[in-house]
Amino acid sequence: MNIILFGPPGSGKGTQGDKLVNDFNLIKVSTGDLLRKEIKTGSKLGEEIKFVIDKGHLVSNEIMNNIMEKVLTNKNCHNKLIFDGYPRNLQQVKNLENSLLKSNQNISCAIEIKVDKQIIIKRILGRQICSKCSLIFNEFFNPATKDNHKCDPTFLKKRSDDNEDAINKRFDTYKIETLPVFKYYNDLNLLHQIDGENDISLIYKEIHQIITSFAA
Ligand code: AMP
Repeated sequence: MNIILFGPPGSGKGTQGDKLVNDFNLIKVSTGDLLRKEIKTGSKLGEEIKFVIDKGHLVSNEIMNNIMEKVLTNKNCHNKLIFDGYPRNLQQVKNLENSLLKSNQNISCAIEIKVDKQIIIKRILGRQICSKCSLIFNEFFNPATKDNHKCDPTFLKKRSDDNEDAINKRFDTYKIETLPVFKYYNDLNLLHQIDGENDISLIYKEIHQIITSFAA
């Protein structure tokens, strides 16, 4: 099965996706992570990507399609993908659908995690990511402690696009560009909506139930 996780920045898609990977033996593809990896290499393309991300805009479809091509043609990922952060506009939907069709695959379901903007802002402003082990914490809701995090606290970093200006822009971009994508999957009867303001474990329980229902 292939699953799409939707949600505004900070809605918890990454956290929920990681849990699904373990339980359903799937492979998570986070386009945000792939782009940040390219930035880390220090390449010219990485510089270009950083400039766009820090402004809260979407990276061009051309760059995204090139990055996704490698994933979509990888046989090890066949029918095992969780998309986190892709597709984010209708042009990316078209690219995804064409690639899946060529390899005889489809989307099994799309899950939208809904969270109010004010909650999102608080969540994102507190977000910290360990640059060593990649665990994600939140200064306000889920702080790193000696019990839940083994690395030195100096490894805890903020993302450069986790500031209020960029968050507002990312939220607007999400509403304008990504809402038509929900309509597309809703019209195909593939869209499920989840209240993302609940506890992480409750949200996961709901997502787990949805996926189990069609995986059975
Ligand atoms: P995320 O980690 O999903 O919050 O993504 C961080 C940033 O990466 C976004 O605000 C966009 O600038 C960029 N990005 C991630 N996925 C995509 C995508 N599918 N299309 C265009 N830009 C993307």
